[in-house]
Amino acid sequence: MQAEYYDVIIIGSGVGGLGSGLYLQKMNPNLRTLILEQHSIPGGSVNGFKRKGYYFDSGAEGLVYCGEGQIFRQRLEEVGVFQEFISIDPVEVMKYQDRTVVMHNKLEKFIDELIHNFPDEEEEIRNYFEVIKKMSDEYFSLNIDSLTPSFRTLLRIVFTRPTLRKYGTKTFQKLLDKFITNPELRKILVVYCLWLGVLPDKISAPSAAVVFNSPFIDGNFYPKGGMLAFAKNMVNTFKLNGGEIKYKSKVDKILFHKKKAVGVRLTDGRIFYGKWIISNADLRRTVFDFVGKDFFKKSYQKFISKIKQSVTGFAVFLGLDIHLDDHHSHIAYNVDAEKFLERLETDNFDPEEVLIRIPQNIDPSLRNDKGSSVILLSMAPYDYKKKWGVNKEEKRNGTYHELKEVFANKLIKLAEKVIPDLTQRIKVKEIATPLTFERYIQSTEGSWYGPETNQKLPSYKSPLKRLLFAGGNVDGAGVPPSFFSGIKTAKYITRKMKKKRNRKVVFYSVIDGQRVAITAPLPDDKAITGVISQR
Ligand SMILES: Cc1cc2nc3c(=O)[nH]c(=O)nc-3n(C[C@H](O)[C@H](O)[C@H](O)COP(=O)(O)OP(=O)(O)OC[C@H]3O[C@@H](n4cnc5c(N)ncnc54)[C@H](O)[C@@H]3O)c2cc1C
Repeated sequence: MQAEYYDVIIIGSGVGGLGSGLYLQKMNPNLRTLILEQHSIPGGSVNGFKRKGYYFDSGAEGLVYCGEGQIFRQRLEEVGVFQEFISIDPVEVMKYQDRTVVMHNKLEKFIDELIHNFPDEEEEIRNYFEVIKKMSDEYFSLNIDSLTPSFRTLLRIVFTRPTLRKYGTKTFQKLLDKFITNPELRKILVVYCLWLGVLPDKISAPSAAVVFNSPFIDGNFYPKGGMLAFAKNMVNTFKLNGGEIKYKSKVDKILFHKKKAVGVRLTDGRIFYGKWIISNADLRRTVFDFVGKDFFKKSYQKFISKIKQSVTGFAVFLGLDIHLDDHHSHIAYNVDAEKFLERLETDNFDPEEVLIRIPQNIDPSLRNDKGSSVILLSMAPYDYKKKWGVNKEEKRNGTYHELKEVFANKLIKLAEKVIPDLTQRIKVKEIATPLTFERYIQSTEGSWYGPETNQKLPSYKSPLKRLLFAGGNVDGAGVPPSFFSGIKTAKYITRKMKKKRNRKVVFYSVIDGQRVAITAPLPDDKAITGVISQR
């Protein structure tokens, strides 16, 4: 089989991989960047599918920082991706047996709603949000690319940002304890802990302020056309600038020559060589499977194996024969994130809450004449009932199918508290367990966000030459941080390539029968490709 040569090979077309590819090709359209994606469609967890005319997002369902002038939108536009975003308003409607709280996408309106529901706590609410808003404003006034500050940024914070400095070493729990006494109110304020699967004592107060509170401070957004359309939009821009993507191309091994990453081998035996390899795939799989533990020092092996994966979950995708026009697009039923996350750790986990998403109620272009599509989501343990009843040979037998139906029916019953005759209206039903997520995104234990956010993560520079990482694996959870991570990795390569390009190189020619050494700068990166191809 003939090998092919590229400048950069990216394993995975998640937003991290796409961020790298987009930046590299924008900086130099002559570069040859190849993205290899194991799935038949791009986007990783930014994805969707259609069944019998019903559209479903299969991963992310709301994106922050996409408003006019906000950082995710800016970074996308800088690499040529112009995407229309629709503001999700309300961001979430939280329904409990005895009350409904609407999380508006404007802070003042949300504060009013909270005060309306908890009039005795007005002062607590105002004081709490004053601190949250200050931390968020101070952070964004730093004008940095990443949501994980570098050491230099931390120093800037210490000297110039008083609220961040004050709460920098405190947990979100400490902040809540200081301001909020009413447990019912607290339930509402910690709802975003559920999304990332981290309890308030496991996340710093500034991270919570910046990440969890951004939907009602800066808004939450939905890409017009759905998440899959957004992923395809990024791919189209990447290809327009000279990038190449191959689907159904599953990397099996990263190839090394003299301790330097030089290419990849796919499960079907194809081989691609590249000067740089970026892995946007699962960190553990990259280190232990694609490379092999023996390439790394013991201390690094230990570090990677100790990294805790973020939560995984369960999804039910329903196509109904009615429209749900009078429902909001994002509804959280009975969510008490702190209790939920504690229960998630126990053996007899049973869902008591459900998240309901109705994409066509944000974006009418997704409407199916037959009726609404509804997505029901819940976090769920990877090891539920001994790994969902899957036996040792990894066979999905009858027990697996029974368990997934039972779990799906529990979520449907919970959703019926909001959509009363849901069961009778179902025409299409698809179910995804944590094992389904594991298979589709190839993430360890089906984790939705890669490693959990509240721990030290590895640098985007692997200890091995020419092997880099990009995405949620190294820069924290969520779509914008994963995209920013991809850009950071690509910037590093661009800097290195520039150095190379400007360096004088020596090559030989024959002039008047004499062998002459000529010193010249390489004209462009294409020439560099030529050099590798001949090796
Ligand atoms: C159900 C769900 C809901 C979510 N909701 C939100 C939300 O509302 N907002 C938000 O911001 N975030 C949300 N997230 C998280 C967010 O989607 C992720 O944090 C982010 O998309 C991760 O991007 P990534 O590029 O790091 O990796 P991924 O999206 O995991 O992409 C990795 C890519 O690598 C590919 N790959 C893996 N192994 C190989 C291989 N061997 N060969 C070739 N390709 C390979 C995969 O197929 C995949 O395309 C959600 C995630 C899920 C699953």
